[in-house]
Amino acid sequence: MKVRFWGVRGSIPVPGEGTTRWGGNSSCVEVTHGDATIVLDCGTGARPLGRDLLGRPQRELDLLFTHFHMDHIIGFPFFGPVFAPNYQVRVTVPAFSEEEAKDRLGRFVNGVYHPLRIREIPAQLSFTPIQPGKIFQRGPFEVLGVRMNHPGGAVGYRISAGGYTVCYFTDTAPLARPGEGVTANAPPPATERQVLDAIEGVDLLIFDTMFTFDEYLEKMTWGHAYPEYAVALSKVANVKHLIMFHHAPDATDGFLDELSAKWQDHVEPRVTLAREGMLIDLEG
Ligand SMILES: [Zn+2]
Ligand SMILES: [Zn+2]
Repeated sequence: MKVRFWGVRGSIPVPGEGTTRWGGNSSCVEVTHGDATIVLDCGTGARPLGRDLLGRPQRELDLLFTHFHMDHIIGFPFFGPVFAPNYQVRVTVPAFSEEEAKDRLGRFVNGVYHPLRIREIPAQLSFTPIQPGKIFQRGPFEVLGVRMNHPGGAVGYRISAGGYTVCYFTDTAPLARPGEGVTANAPPPATERQVLDAIEGVDLLIFDTMFTFDEYLEKMTWGHAYPEYAVALSKVANVKHLIMFHHAPDATDGFLDELSAKWQDHVEPRVTLAREGMLIDLEG
């Protein structure tokens, strides 16, 4: 399995001088196993990914959305494969019905916020609703949706294929309050237990570390976590490699250099900051 980061930023894309090295595009991650592709979220990183995909022979993919905040969907109507009539794009959405799943994107791609209407999309587009807690199959991938702690709800995905497992758990606050659970060396509450069970022993955990601890204390209901929490969670669950993800718009290259330097020698888990363009090959 290979994982490539096309957008690592949270909240809003931040092009410009301060983000040239770590990247300014918003959330979009590609997971491949052989010819099979899963795209996770469609932030602005989906545009360069789409161009790359159209240069490959394959004409099908699965697109999984965690939720529908703008930073995760704005790249969808700029994602090349949706304009290719012979391309099969299977969209998976946390929702209760196919109609609701389609409506989630349809309300954005409706001729008002973008000139295109969802029914005019040239690709062969299909929508499948999923609920957290149930395992489902997408090509060679076995996928589990896991409930995140985020305003309006979000679903993280655990994806396994070829003997490797990757978790994409973004847009989540800690699953326990300060003084409880893994950061307090205390028994985890049920919400945190669920996430710990899902990430137990995984090869790669991509986790929301948008805030510093102090920012988290100020914005506990905003639905984002911080580096020390991601590390504590990973350690208890024996995660092999943690990727810090969904960087804040104000996190400049200099800030992220410092954060990276702080964690680069960490073991159990190994820690890497997500960088736009980064490729992780779990098999090699
Ligand atoms: Zn986000
Ligand atoms: Zn969000």
